Amino acid sequence: MGISVSELLSVVVPAYNEFSVLGEFHRRLSDVMSATGMGYEIIYVDDGSTDDTVTLLNRLREEDPALAIIELSRNFGKEVALSAGLDHANGDAVIIIDADLQDPPELIDEFLREWRNGYDIVYGSRTDREGESWLKITTAKWFYRVINRLSDVEIPRDAGDFRLISRRALDALVSMRETHRYMKGLYAWVGFPQKEVPYLRQPRAAGETKWNYWRLWNFALEGITSFSDVPLKMSTYLGVLTSTAAFLYGLYFLVRTLFLGNPVPGYPSLMLVVLFLGGVQLICLGIIGEYLARTYNESKSRALYFVKGYHPARSRAAAEAESRINL
Ligand code: UDP
Ligand code: MG
Repeated sequence: MGISVSELLSVVVPAYNEFSVLGEFHRRLSDVMSATGMGYEIIYVDDGSTDDTVTLLNRLREEDPALAIIELSRNFGKEVALSAGLDHANGDAVIIIDADLQDPPELIDEFLREWRNGYDIVYGSRTDREGESWLKITTAKWFYRVINRLSDVEIPRDAGDFRLISRRALDALVSMRETHRYMKGLYAWVGFPQKEVPYLRQPRAAGETKWNYWRLWNFALEGITSFSDVPLKMSTYLGVLTSTAAFLYGLYFLVRTLFLGNPVPGYPSLMLVVLFLGGVQLICLGIIGEYLARTYNESKSRALYFVKGYHPARSRAAAEAESRINL
């Protein structure tokens, strides 16, 4: 091949309206990356920001040849922004990190150490959820309990997207083009040796979170429907259960009518049964609907995202790696 095979690290940073932290973030991340002594590229994915994020990124790129920018055509959400970054990563390993400094860049050293030890996926695990409400912590706990009970893969509870992924795990990850991308599930699903690194998650340095409870709820639905078909099967068992109950109830009435005659009471119990069964049926229809909608979306197999502008890193290491990977 004739190309010197030096190792390259890619860092993927999804950024949506992060103007207020990006300058400081880039400084801290660059310090860490240059201290590794390895070649690196930092890929910022602008997820359709409406503030001056892109202007700032372009300015930073003029001074830093390791910086690459992918501008998406609109806001696609973090999961898709991440996928765009991973698709364009040329490194032998790729690191995913949030732009808001909640994930300390200094932990990357530790990630690299574990990668050298042979782990394919090294992920940060929050030891403490500082600055998060009681409600968010409790709902998160329940969500992981439910999803791990329902799905075949074990999704670690306190892990986010902050992680290092080896080339072979990355290739596996980017080969999955599903529209409904529950990344935490996908990381677990690809397998490979995985290692957890505990860290203290900081509160946001500046700007504000894009997550509210409604988005979290939808995120949870996404996770469960992407990685489990148990809710679909649940309606079967629920049906069996209610018909058994109905049968026993019917038997009871038959015996009672035979021995005690029929004094026509039972309006409340009739109402109760009708309403209960109606409710159960609607819930089951809803569950089917959730899956049907996703099947519909997947069947369209649309592109995951569109790129408005791509400015690759200009550094030599990045260029070499790109030609090596595209061979
Ligand atoms: N983000 C994105 N697209 C979105 C929402 C968020 O690329 O539609 C990015 C955001 O810029 C940040 C990361 O995803 O780098 C995490 O977002 P945020 O801090 O709002 O989430 P939280 O940390 O509160 O879970
Ligand atoms: Mg954040």
